[in-house]
Amino acid sequence: MKSRSIVLASRNKGKVREIEAVLAPLGVRVKSLDDYPDITEPAEEGETFAQNARDKAIYYAKATGQWCLADDSGLEVDALDGAPGVYSARWSTDQCDENAPREVITNANNERLLRELAETPDEKRTARFVCHLALAEDERVIIETFDTLEGTIANQLRGKNGFGYDPLFFLPQRSCTAAELTAQEKNEISHRGKAVRHFAKLLGSFLTAQQNK
Ligand code: IMP
Repeated sequence: MKSRSIVLASRNKGKVREIEAVLAPLGVRVKSLDDYPDITEPAEEGETFAQNARDKAIYYAKATGQWCLADDSGLEVDALDGAPGVYSARWSTDQCDENAPREVITNANNERLLRELAETPDEKRTARFVCHLALAEDERVIIETFDTLEGTIANQLRGKNGFGYDPLFFLPQRSCTAAELTAQEKNEISHRGKAVRHFAKLLGSFLTAQQNK
């Protein structure tokens, strides 16, 4: 199969390594935005994860002239009508400076989640992480997929691993929070891990179909 490269719309080295490992067996090389230091970030203005992933993929595909893979992910809490949703990363920026260190923003987000659910009984604290992926060629999305990880929101922080809302994201089937899993354990069940593996299958079929044209 002819080798091809795609640009991942991220500067996060962890994400790049994770996607590289999954796409390497397909002979696909992964570049990151670090290979394109002059391209500025687009504003994230979509109302859904899908829209944000599509917009980002198209923006960077046009800017780089390469196939571009973008992801958008976050937390949906049922008792909060799906919030924080697409605002997951910056949910508390009205209470703390948007440019504050990541840890300060994460703590403020988790405190807000506990506060907003203070009156919500355990059985109504259901939630899910969602990850949506889109691959664009120029102005066209050619592959997209998404996956979720279902859980509930705990009453207190537990665990030191992971990031973001992980210490509050309780997994009933494992009796622990996502922050108590190792990176590998989380990757096996996570919204992002599952979406990326499904994406690799779709990409493999897409490349094979292209070659057979
Ligand atoms: P991003 O789209 O990967 O940048 O994720 C947006 C935000 O959603 C993050 O800043 C986190 O607040 C939240 N989030 C997404 N995935 C996870 C996860 O696996 N654990 C905890 N928080 C997450």
